[in-house]
Amino acid sequence: MRPLAATIDRAALAHNLGVARARAGSARVLAVVKANAYGHGLERAAAAFAAADGLALIELDAALRLRESGYAGRLVLLEGLFGADEVTVAARAGLSVVVHGEEQLRMLDAAPPDSQLDVLLKLNTGMNRLGFALEKAAGALARLRAHGAVRTLSLMTHFAAADESRGVAWQLDPFNAFAGGQALPCTLANSAALLRYPQTRADWVRPGIMLYGCSPFADQSATELGLKPAMTLASRLIAVQDIKTGDSVGYGSAFIAPQAMRIGVIACGYADGYPRHAPTGTPVLVNGGRTRTLGRVAMDLICCDLTSLPAATVGAPVTLWGDGLSADEVAAAAGTVSYELLCALAPRVPVLLR
Ligand SMILES: *Cc1c(COP(=O)(O)O)cnc(C)c1O
Repeated sequence: MRPLAATIDRAALAHNLGVARARAGSARVLAVVKANAYGHGLERAAAAFAAADGLALIELDAALRLRESGYAGRLVLLEGLFGADEVTVAARAGLSVVVHGEEQLRMLDAAPPDSQLDVLLKLNTGMNRLGFALEKAAGALARLRAHGAVRTLSLMTHFAAADESRGVAWQLDPFNAFAGGQALPCTLANSAALLRYPQTRADWVRPGIMLYGCSPFADQSATELGLKPAMTLASRLIAVQDIKTGDSVGYGSAFIAPQAMRIGVIACGYADGYPRHAPTGTPVLVNGGRTRTLGRVAMDLICCDLTSLPAATVGAPVTLWGDGLSADEVAAAAGTVSYELLCALAPRVPVLLR
């Protein structure tokens, strides 16, 4: 069998939830499990996050699956409903829905008489993607307060730069100015805000990436934050080549050997979710030792430098990311973020549990 597999460490997921809970203080924790729990598997992540107060996600079908499998906690649809036809099914499943725009208010107006939903009114405080502008928020809130289909109401916003130097005050202050008089529960913080700005905790926090053991920050590692990687993508060398000065490696001859070298060929490629844009020099572990990729990532294979690893032969274990090599580091080398790597784990990769 092809030696590539992803291992999901359920104890690490539970550990990271504990870190989030400790940071949350008295706020309740909505564990974000969108995109198949950032590639970790929805059902197994939900089980590992049993100590969370609720789960938040984008996909209605996934939320319904969680309910059908007996999940009884709060389930929040972060983008709300996409059509009036979804009101009844969401109400029947007891889902909480974000209302971020006029169209969604009108969907509620079309709700059957017996439908009741828990609604989070989303305010646009500067991300400028979803949400009511603050000038329109009072009007939307008045409509929701009077609405027969609304069982409970909360307020929500989302930070654009909690992981960067711009921070949160420019969004938090106007949000608080509006929310202050409303006596409604509020939810604001993603992982970055929860970790760096305790003043954003409010009533419910919404951590995602940190639960999977990655850092939302470019300048602070997951280890420094006390997080443990939950997904390890591992494979083996399936070939070793001795090449001469001037020989090239892989498609496009993108790497040319400056001297005689030994290179390893890893059973993993972009069809497995490894980023094709990872350049020569992207870190990888072979036999537990750190080395670098060479040349272009192909659909099924990646080459690496064995110059510093003379003991590595065919069959040597390889870690693409996870235990011992953070997905954050691999992502940074490939010009992206760990979120994208984790979510991109391909269906053809077998998943093992630990
Ligand atoms: C994805 C998402 C989160 C979680 O963000 P992280 O950066 O992964 O912690 C929180 N809130 C909303 C609205 C989201 O879409």
